Amino acid sequence: MAHRPRLHEFRLIEQLRRAFGRTGPAVVRGIGDDAAIITPPKGRQLVLTTDLLVEDVHFDLRTASFEDIGHKAAIANLSDIAAMGARPEYALVSIAAPPSCTAPHILRLYKGIMDACRPYRVALIGGDTSASPRGLFLSLTVTGSIPTGASLRRDGARVGDLLYVTGTLGDALAGLTLLSRRHRRSVGLPLKSSERRFLIDRHRRPIAHVRLGQTLSALRLASAMIDLSDGLSGDLRHLCEHSRVGAEIDATALPLSSALRAYARSSGTDPVALALQGGEDYELLFTVPPAKQRMLQRVARRSGRRVTCIGVIRPKAFGLRVRETTGRVRLLPVTSYVHFHDASPE
Ligand code: ADP
Ligand code: MG
Repeated sequence: MAHRPRLHEFRLIEQLRRAFGRTGPAVVRGIGDDAAIITPPKGRQLVLTTDLLVEDVHFDLRTASFEDIGHKAAIANLSDIAAMGARPEYALVSIAAPPSCTAPHILRLYKGIMDACRPYRVALIGGDTSASPRGLFLSLTVTGSIPTGASLRRDGARVGDLLYVTGTLGDALAGLTLLSRRHRRSVGLPLKSSERRFLIDRHRRPIAHVRLGQTLSALRLASAMIDLSDGLSGDLRHLCEHSRVGAEIDATALPLSSALRAYARSSGTDPVALALQGGEDYELLFTVPPAKQRMLQRVARRSGRRVTCIGVIRPKAFGLRVRETTGRVRLLPVTSYVHFHDASPE
């Protein structure tokens, strides 16, 4: 057992079990035994991911609620499962809580996690609880499954494939910067409160494209996929390195929300730089063979999700380049979202 926390561990676990635990045909044992037991799904591979959130590194309790933190942890994991094209199924949650954290705080954290998981019927099947002398730590593990051989990996992109991205880019970074106290001055027109709210919401309440990810794998529409957690320029680099290819991005094609454009004007920032570097958008970046482009457009329309072609896969020797609005082609900047404290692009 972990180091005994101040809060009443066993009562808390029992509360969590009652509120969020589930057993059923597939869950032979959930919370309460030494380990959970799951009946593995036939003909499918297991997909597993984990994510660790550390107070003052990944979140700030002055700007994020406990529900927000739980939500973010869930989305980070669900988005990883989505990026493999898999179906999320089970969650395990480990938490180390500082003395200032009480049981109601932790229940709110779990509410954030489970609300984000509910649309996909992800069941909480276990975890671990400890005290922390300083700072809150939250580690979430989500498991899922996918038909054997159907997963969408980072290494499948081929020269000539088209590069697609879901949603809009850079919003979460703009929202984070708006929340951080450093951002007070505006150099242009101030942001409307609706724009401000939209951007902050994109940072606090991102969504994971779980259903679209599954559709892309089930219909074999994508050749490679990754989710955007570090920012387009960093995550595209990962995808290209794994696939041993280069890429050309068209800066004029990058999907930018009107709120992001307004933010860029008011802060004197380059919206393209925000879109390239902004982290934690949790959009999907994927490659599509040209022959499948029409079908992809149809599927996207039906799913109600925006997908945008932002470029093309080139040979490795081409490197990673951006075609700017002026027509000039330059190397993609290496910088990507690092963390919180130095997140604002210069
Ligand atoms: P052990 O000492 O064997 O690890 P614990 O007392 O830590 O047992 O856990 C008992 C049960 O409660 C296990 O099923 C475990 O998965 C579950 N559990 C413990 N902490 C949490 C938590 N924070 N969230 C969800 N389930 C938990
Ligand atoms: Mg334990």
